[in-house]
Amino acid sequence: MIRKFIKRVFGRAERPRLDGSAQIIPFKAHGVSREQISYGSKKVTDGLQAAGYQAYVVGGAVRDLLLQRTPKDFDVATNATPEEVRRVFRRSRIIGRRFRLVHVMFGEEVVEVSTFRRMIEEEDAETDAHGRLLRDNEFGDQQQDAARRDFTANALFYDPSTQEIHDFHQGYADTRNHLLRMIGDPATRYREDPVRMLRAVRLSAKLDIRLDAATAAPIGKMKDLLNNVPEARLLDEVLKMLLSGHSVECIQQLRKMDLHHGLLPLLDVILEQPMGEKFVMLALRNTDERLAQEKPVSPAFLFAALLWHEVLSSWAKFKQRGENPVPALHMAMDEVLHKQKAKLAIPHRHDAVMKEIWLLQLRFDQRAGQRPFRLLEQPRFRAGFDFLLLRCASGEVDDELGLWWDEFQDANVERRAEMLQPERAGDKKRRRRPRKKAVVTESAA
Ligand code: ATP
Ligand code: MG
Repeated sequence: MIRKFIKRVFGRAERPRLDGSAQIIPFKAHGVSREQISYGSKKVTDGLQAAGYQAYVVGGAVRDLLLQRTPKDFDVATNATPEEVRRVFRRSRIIGRRFRLVHVMFGEEVVEVSTFRRMIEEEDAETDAHGRLLRDNEFGDQQQDAARRDFTANALFYDPSTQEIHDFHQGYADTRNHLLRMIGDPATRYREDPVRMLRAVRLSAKLDIRLDAATAAPIGKMKDLLNNVPEARLLDEVLKMLLSGHSVECIQQLRKMDLHHGLLPLLDVILEQPMGEKFVMLALRNTDERLAQEKPVSPAFLFAALLWHEVLSSWAKFKQRGENPVPALHMAMDEVLHKQKAKLAIPHRHDAVMKEIWLLQLRFDQRAGQRPFRLLEQPRFRAGFDFLLLRCASGEVDDELGLWWDEFQDANVERRAEMLQPERAGDKKRRRRPRKKAVVTESAA
């Protein structure tokens, strides 16, 4: 206790203090103009500065602009407390428990405003047994806020009113050199928060920039620390990778660094079977392309794709045990979802859509009578069809099936009639079941 107190009082005084000044990079050098900043974030920085506070656009947005990319969002950092920010902007609300942030609303745009924070001094830090920080939400000043960020490229502050960049960690030079470099000692920073290893992979893949050698070096030895990260946070980061628009590069990079084991249990299994790997990589490539074309992508579709080969093998197992295909598929879906829940926290809310997509696959085989028409009316038809195309492309089912449905969708009445396959004996027999029962099953499906 006393030692801790002495260390705190004297230790601090002895530590060489930086003078706190940042390198200021003028507009002339960096060329990022005020016009490139979103309407809302300009309003926020202007409003806070007019009220006497410091306020800057920070993080990913400044980095992306320097790399000539379109930022996803514009976050603001300030020395005003969340309550003070709220007082300046009426249309705002405080969110978050661990870090209290303010969301300021401008029509469609929501600007996230965070108060400068500092890393907690080592002796005060609350860590788990492996050195992972459990709390880092103390308020701080601008310099401290820069130091607690992960990569130098992510620690730049842009002031829209002067169009200057404030740089405490040579982030400007690194970004210009397409280099992703950890602030401080990489091993310590990974110990504090192992998710930074995944962020390193994601950001370097997404931005197509090099990971600095010293930043990459400890990852191989430290990857087991990811086992202690709460599942929900891991899933968040994995989702960010899968939906980054560069999921293929992310997965390739993860595998190269041998980071995928244990992190994505579902990938462990799938990537080891050639057919499964082909299917998953096609699904990811397809997602990347959709994102590049600014089309919506659904996490449920992606999860359904990631788990499909697990479902297939479980389905085969139940059929082998003598179950009929439909009940066997239900059993397989339940088994796979249950197993995944235990390992990776895929939220339950996606289950229904995943199951719908899988169940539709069974119905694409039925190309006689009224069935294809009823399938076209299913609200999930499009997702099911996209999924079928992936199955064709991966070689799981014949291309002919995908081509048939592609044509059938847009064909006129006569052509559709021509395309229908003759009823098989088995189909007829099933149709002759009591009418009432058949209707009930159909509407419940
Ligand atoms: P993206 O473009 O994917 O949003 P980003 O860098 O903006 O990338 P965010 O998760 O939005 O990522 O985080 C915003 C900023 O917060 C980062 O730029 C970085 O400065 C800081 N940050 C985020 N996560 C961490 C972390 N685990 N450790 C330290 N700093 C972090
Ligand atoms: Mg961001």
